[in-house]
Amino acid sequence: MSVWEERWHPLREEWVIVAAHRQHRPWIGETVKTPKAALPAYLPDCYLCPGNRRVGGAVNAAYDRTFVFDNDHPCVGPSAPEPGPAPGIHRNRPARGIARVLCYSPRHDLTLAELPTGEVAHLVEVWQQQYRELGDRPEIEHVLIFENKGEVVGVSNPHPHCQIYATNFVFKTIETEAKASARHLADTGRVLFQDILEAERTDGRRVVFENESAIAFIPYFARYAYEIYVAPKVTRASVADLRGSEVADFAEALSRVLVKVDNLWKMPFPYVMPLHQAPTDGGDHRGFHFHVELHPPLRKPDLLKYLAGPEIGGGNFLSDTSPEEKAGELRVLPDVHYKKTG
Ligand SMILES: [Zn+2]
Ligand SMILES: [Zn+2]
Repeated sequence: MSVWEERWHPLREEWVIVAAHRQHRPWIGETVKTPKAALPAYLPDCYLCPGNRRVGGAVNAAYDRTFVFDNDHPCVGPSAPEPGPAPGIHRNRPARGIARVLCYSPRHDLTLAELPTGEVAHLVEVWQQQYRELGDRPEIEHVLIFENKGEVVGVSNPHPHCQIYATNFVFKTIETEAKASARHLADTGRVLFQDILEAERTDGRRVVFENESAIAFIPYFARYAYEIYVAPKVTRASVADLRGSEVADFAEALSRVLVKVDNLWKMPFPYVMPLHQAPTDGGDHRGFHFHVELHPPLRKPDLLKYLAGPEIGGGNFLSDTSPEEKAGELRVLPDVHYKKTG
């Protein structure tokens, strides 16, 4: 399957160049080494394991499910200093907000992909609580929840956890998505993401998993080889708006795709995984449809997608793979994690 075309990314409002016709071109660049050693269930000097002392002196609770704490070295904080005057045209302000760390499990050696679906559903409920609690604060305009996984995205501690940045501004990508969604709603009376879902379900080639109320797919306009969106089918502005069985369905869909990507190369699959949720700035976000985006930096087990001229230099992505082909690869992979099947 050879795709060579430009595809419109309706949420980011930008073109993606899909140049999958040349994905087998020779590669002599740097490759990524994957860790092989098995991890212990508990590590005495891990700052995220239960009961351990962190660098700042605080001691973790002896937690048995999830554990949330304020980041000891926050990038945004309630006590961020008042900056000095900015020169000329420039502007600045205090880096106010709240940064937290959320441990998924007391087990140092389990990734999100390996957690039982019931525990993932519990985690979704903790995300809901955090979004509500932080988003309700008047100074907080947005709650960004994200997980960085793997050394290739800069994570040194494999203990399963995500981070929460509740900020006094709306992150750029969310702002773009919110604007595009609001305009689409005003112009057509429809939710933009629903139109995306309809196109995906009609076509079907990029759908990876689907249950009663949740769906996972590689979008038509994917920028990364294995970029996967997981979303409720009914429009909910944030994770906190999932109700009833939607929580368990969403957890199942997320769990399934994480198992699949781990099974792809039988290795812990690195990624950046943000929750894209409506801002909590008091605006009208009826057109915003909550979703999780999985951005895996690898194209092959040992091959990193480098961001270079087009991406960093120009701001648009050049994708080397076809989303249809990659979704097909994932669909046929087993639903049981490779570590459990030996
Ligand atoms: Zn740990
Ligand atoms: Zn998004």
